[in-house]
Amino acid sequence: MATSDGAPGAGATLTVDLDAIAGNYRLLCRTLGKVPCAAVVKADGYGLGVAPVGRTLAAAGAEWFFTAHLGEAIALRAALQPPVRIAVLNGIWPGLEDAFLAHDLLPVLNDLGQIALWRAAATGAGRPLPAVLQLDTGMARLGLPPAELATLRQEPERMSGIDLRLVISHLACADEPGHPLNAIQRGRFAAARDAFPGVPASLAASSGIFLGPGYHCDLGRPGVALYGVNPTPDAPNPMRPVVRLEARILQVRHIDRGESVGYGATHRASKPTKVATVPIGYADGFLRSSSSRGHFLLNGAPAPILGRVSMDLITLDVTDFADADARPGATVVAIGDARSLDAVASDAGTIGYEFLTGLGQRYARVYRGGA
Ligand SMILES: *Cc1c(COP(=O)(O)O)cnc(C)c1O
Repeated sequence: MATSDGAPGAGATLTVDLDAIAGNYRLLCRTLGKVPCAAVVKADGYGLGVAPVGRTLAAAGAEWFFTAHLGEAIALRAALQPPVRIAVLNGIWPGLEDAFLAHDLLPVLNDLGQIALWRAAATGAGRPLPAVLQLDTGMARLGLPPAELATLRQEPERMSGIDLRLVISHLACADEPGHPLNAIQRGRFAAARDAFPGVPASLAASSGIFLGPGYHCDLGRPGVALYGVNPTPDAPNPMRPVVRLEARILQVRHIDRGESVGYGATHRASKPTKVATVPIGYADGFLRSSSSRGHFLLNGAPAPILGRVSMDLITLDVTDFADADARPGATVVAIGDARSLDAVASDAGTIGYEFLTGLGQRYARVYRGGA
């Protein structure tokens, strides 16, 4: 079968530009001015590989890292030694204390129960244990709700033994600069912070950093912008693209007017049509909602997706291309060049975050650049 460059056995090639990730980190640092910048690498570095991504960001200067799960943090710790700090956003369960200690990880404490658990672990360890505290200022998702913060203010001994390194909260609408909830959350966070004098604070993720210095606090906390997704959806993307997805055409066929293409016969040709089949499908994270929507690039020109995306294959309309160009073995670009990840996601009815983190493990992966 046809294979991609440097990828015998794989259908398609996903190229990850580590230098672009480092460049994006530096751009975020410049935007933050004197405020340092952490790196969020949950979901295996947004699907791009937590170890190479983590090493690249540490080399670019990141000292704080965030994952969602403990397992992700352990994987990152294998690549990055202290003094790099790794915090686990989803917090801690009973029974996981030893793993946090063994791998030198910080739990993000999200409620009074987690605080009590970590305090008991500190007592057991006979030393103060470092942690991050998350406050809910309007997401109603994770973090201490206002009533629990009030309890903590009244009973500060609940934090004894906990070496609080950082207080965080998370914005719900940072990608909509005019949304009133942004200023409301900022105000709530500022008011809540004074319960923890001298403790650094972090509020802004990727989009929040672009809301301006009033949102920067003491640490930026971007994820998706590092990987090239536009953190300012209403304006041109300031970030460098990081991923490139390309494949080779497997087969080309001519169909007559009236014939259909693919499952469900959802595309019926209104004229004689040339169809190219490429080895990318929804099992590769190329969402089925992309069926008959959007296009790939062949020699820089759009080849529209025809009919349904199937598990392993996509069919493209290459009628307008010369046979010498639209031929088995020719390379088509699914993401890259003039076809941005954000545009591909938008055509699939979703956001860059979902498309990126869903790209999956079936591609041949090529890393470019890096430390
Ligand atoms: C995912 C996440 C981030 C990073 O968000 P991006 O929008 O990807 O920059 C930061 N903080 C928290 C709490 C998160 O869950």
